[in-house]
Amino acid sequence: MKAFNYHQPTDIRFGRGRLKEVPSSVGRLGGRCEHVTVTHAPQHGGLVGTVKGLLAEARIPTAHFSGVIPNPTTDVVSAGARMAREFKADVVLGLGGGSSMDTAKAIAVQATHPGTAWDYLFFRETQPTERTLPIVAVTTTSGTGSHVTQVAVVSNPGEKSKSALYHPLLYPRTSIVDPDLMLTVPARVTAATGFDVFAHAFESYLNPGGSPYTDLMALEALAIVAKALPEAVRDGRRIEARERMAWADTLAGLCIANSGVTLPHGIGMAIGGLYPHVSHGEALAVVYPAILRYSFRTSPAKFAAVGRILDKKLAGEKGLQAAEKSCAAIERFLKRIGMRLSLRDLRVPEEELAALALQSLVLPDYKNHPRIASLEDIVTILNESH
Ligand code: NAD
Repeated sequence: MKAFNYHQPTDIRFGRGRLKEVPSSVGRLGGRCEHVTVTHAPQHGGLVGTVKGLLAEARIPTAHFSGVIPNPTTDVVSAGARMAREFKADVVLGLGGGSSMDTAKAIAVQATHPGTAWDYLFFRETQPTERTLPIVAVTTTSGTGSHVTQVAVVSNPGEKSKSALYHPLLYPRTSIVDPDLMLTVPARVTAATGFDVFAHAFESYLNPGGSPYTDLMALEALAIVAKALPEAVRDGRRIEARERMAWADTLAGLCIANSGVTLPHGIGMAIGGLYPHVSHGEALAVVYPAILRYSFRTSPAKFAAVGRILDKKLAGEKGLQAAEKSCAAIERFLKRIGMRLSLRDLRVPEEELAALALQSLVLPDYKNHPRIASLEDIVTILNESH
């Protein structure tokens, strides 16, 4: 059997009603809390106010940074870090989707280190130290898995680039996963973030860095997403579907923290950096069909296993034939959740595809894909996706 490591330091508090554990989760890490959220969120059903109330009731001194935007930028992180320093925060609480949780993580680094969070990206020589503030995450999407990962994704508009900090100190100390918080997520965001869960599980499963442990979780996450995501998109008030998706998100997050993502994320991050109006889930969904067709021959057994999860009729199919039909099954799934997109739909100009292809090779994710893409391969994938 393959030798492997598995690491997960986050204290995960999963279940309905667990939001009330925010004060105890924050309080045990120190006195003063910076609370990080999106700018104005009436659509979250009063959640920000509820959390402020809980912190006030517990007499935890709090500064509210409400400057997060989707695909958060270095400027946003700098503003949040300035507030954390001035307020002398002891702990950073990220409340929201991946954008809010990642901003909280990047603030935790920048507030306590010289320079900016961008100076501490995963490939830099200088890395975050023990001075990094502890992080508490409350996820409101299902999702990025950020509540259980050591990753913080940040965009630098000056460089038109999206990259990541990646360090064990960025694992949240505590994560609250309360499916009640996800009931207000609009259908389109549910579909996009839910497809991100699919992508994390699928890519972790394909990744040679995966293990029996992550494979187990990835296949379970895929089985849950196959059933629960269309239900959650159709009727966002269905708490059972939200609970299942929150669990799949957590499993898939544990997978990527220990295995990793592959080519679709490499290209998806490049799309997000160059076209910040495109959400992370959309950036992945748009390139999936072409990448699947490009890849299925190099990993037929795994493709077939995923296809059988989505389409029971593939049970009798074998080998390459099953793998090829799996690509069609995943494409049908994308259509079912309203995420079968083209780069044209997402307003990515055709004449910029060559530059996008170059940018797609900046992150090392493509090297973990079962078939390693050349620049020409990526140009072809992008043209097919346009
Ligand atoms: P998001 O955080 O950008 O949120 C998307 C939209 O949904 C926002 O407008 C937000 O206000 C809204 N929203 C969030 N929760 C809501 C709720 N409960 N009710 C109503 N509206 C709600 O989206 P996301 O997909 O969760 O995060 C994307 C970011 O996370 C990207 O930058 C992506 O690159 C990053 N990411 C990080 C990791 C990681 O491990 N750190 C992994 C994958 C992706």
